Amino acid sequence: MTILQLPGWADVAAAAQRIEGYAHRTPVMTSRTVNEAFAADVFFKCENFQRMGAFKFRGAMNALSQFSPEQRAAGVVTFSSGNHAQAIALAAKLLDIPATIIMPHDAPAAKVAATRGYGGNVVVYDRYTEDREHIGRELAEKHRLTLIPPYDHPHVIAGQGTAAKELIDEVGALDVLFVCLGGGGLLSGSALAARHLAPECEIYGVEPEAGNDGQQSFRTGQIVHIDTPKTIADGAQTQHLGQYTFPLIQQNVDDILTVADDELIASMKFLAERMKIVVEPTGCLGFAAARARKESLQGKKVGIIISGGNVDISRYAEFIAS
Ligand SMILES: *Cc1c(COP(=O)(O)O)cnc(C)c1O
Repeated sequence: MTILQLPGWADVAAAAQRIEGYAHRTPVMTSRTVNEAFAADVFFKCENFQRMGAFKFRGAMNALSQFSPEQRAAGVVTFSSGNHAQAIALAAKLLDIPATIIMPHDAPAAKVAATRGYGGNVVVYDRYTEDREHIGRELAEKHRLTLIPPYDHPHVIAGQGTAAKELIDEVGALDVLFVCLGGGGLLSGSALAARHLAPECEIYGVEPEAGNDGQQSFRTGQIVHIDTPKTIADGAQTQHLGQYTFPLIQQNVDDILTVADDELIASMKFLAERMKIVVEPTGCLGFAAARARKESLQGKKVGIIISGGNVDISRYAEFIAS
């Protein structure tokens, strides 16, 4: 068995320096309505305003900036139908690295177009008959490409942690932090930052009720695998945590909470109506969990990471109208 070298706070701090000038320092927003309803001070870290529309740019930029000259020349490969694809394509473009993105044949046309728009070379596969990891490894070997997965990589985790670092640097130590959870890159990185900068902070990961593999893993102490869950939170449809993200979550996170899709829709509407921000369903996970347990937050200083805003606009209109 290989022993993994888990990333730590120093890696998050180094990532912050590496991505400075490339990633946006996203705004922290507040709402008087929320503060009154919660009887708390609530701070929203708005990664929907990050480059390409989600925090994933942070991890991608941190990983690609550490490529050797040989790796840069050969290029990067990844598999994703979502925000990680666009993040890798954009970071690669900024660093002048060729990028190959493996996407399912039925990925939304808008996402394929956005990835191509950033200069990514999109390779399409049939998700019912082909295995994307196998295709990725084959391409990587044949062309000496470096594979950067969406969450289970120390450089990706450290990059994602810079969002919570910026939040706490700006507003001071938090009592509670809510973070959206898919494969755990954002949560494990954020937890490294929060544990260091605000040691007393309670840290919660939040996943969709239909896909609570993280909660099951956290409670049983073993990585639980599930079938692709049916949920509108498409950024959190992961089937399992990773070999890096799981131990970091075990070490640093207080609990994993879940929310139902209708709570995500209610939160999406609230964020649009009251705060004028467009947030994708997955990006609402943290806020939805905070709303559901607001009594326990009275008098506290609460951080919520809004993870992204990439949602097909006609689909969004349907959510808002429902
Ligand atoms: C990827 C993603 C998540 C989940 O992040 P993990 O690092 O996989 O846990 C949450 N929200 C958005 C918008 C995402 O793109």
